[in-house]
Amino acid sequence: MTGSGQIIDGKAHAARLRADIAQAVIARASAGARAPALAVVLVGDDPASHVYVRNKTAACREAGITSIEHRRDATLPEAELLALVQQLNRDPAVDGILVQLPLPAHIDSARIISAISPDKDVDGFSPVNAGRLATGLDGFVPCTPLGCLRLLQSTLGDIAGAEAIVIGRSNIVGRPMASLLIGASATVTVAHSRSRDLPGLVRRADIVIAAVGRPEMVRGSWLKPGCTVIDVGINRVPKESGEGTRLVGDVAFAEAAEVAAHITPVPGGVGPMTIACLLENTLKAASLQ
Ligand code: NDP
Repeated sequence: MTGSGQIIDGKAHAARLRADIAQAVIARASAGARAPALAVVLVGDDPASHVYVRNKTAACREAGITSIEHRRDATLPEAELLALVQQLNRDPAVDGILVQLPLPAHIDSARIISAISPDKDVDGFSPVNAGRLATGLDGFVPCTPLGCLRLLQSTLGDIAGAEAIVIGRSNIVGRPMASLLIGASATVTVAHSRSRDLPGLVRRADIVIAAVGRPEMVRGSWLKPGCTVIDVGINRVPKESGEGTRLVGDVAFAEAAEVAAHITPVPGGVGPMTIACLLENTLKAASLQ
């Protein structure tokens, strides 16, 4: 056991990144440019989505970024949502477009995401940006994996040659994370629900990224002593007292902190970095316009 278990303070990293972005926005303004502008589209009344959008718009405001919310009923026809996205694509006063997921079941999310202009796609989910990332071209990188990479690099410096495992292969987290790690010259394994001997795969890794959505699935005993753990999972579980709920990650934190050299907490790890990277992508979109 190594047991140093140094906590990677995502909140503090994110606050620094947001402060840098706010400075850059001020510098743009003094050069005569307007504030970067993000259009946020929210369809329906999923409570978690409303919380995410509120947090994103508050972070924009604090950094001097204009955010324009477009709220629509859950019954919005797909064609109308497409028309809204196309209108935002054409609007020169809009730099970035974010369509909050999940969308209601009658709407084809892939069709909507593909309709966002690649140069305004600050979530980096469109096939064009996914392709750019997969082929090593510059584009918009999804905010959560970008935040994970920033945390890794500020904790470990150069990660070239490190053995990394990404658990999860979603388009939002796992796949783009694997591309980013390959880009940083790590040796990457991607595990998923069909992988065999997950503990054995994790045991080899210097870097473990858990993006599964299963509370505390990754155990301390799976980890290589001295590894670095980035826990992307956000899972709500009942409190031991039986009253109310609490958030836990995909990693059993207390056990893992006994073995790992560095670990992100949940909450306060990856989550704040996701929002800071959204602001970073919006600033980038504004400088592309
Ligand atoms: P998805 O449900 O889209 O993907 C989960 C992945 O985990 C899939 O690839 C799935 O494999 C894999 N998986 C499921 N069960 C197992 C298992 N037993 N062993 C190995 N792999 C398994 O989730 P997301 O990628 O969208 O999100 C993952 C987690 O990250 C969630 O908890 C989510 O809330 C959180 N999240 C946090 C964010 C943040 O800002 N901190 C942002 C986005 C997500 P398969 O493909 O074979 O089905």
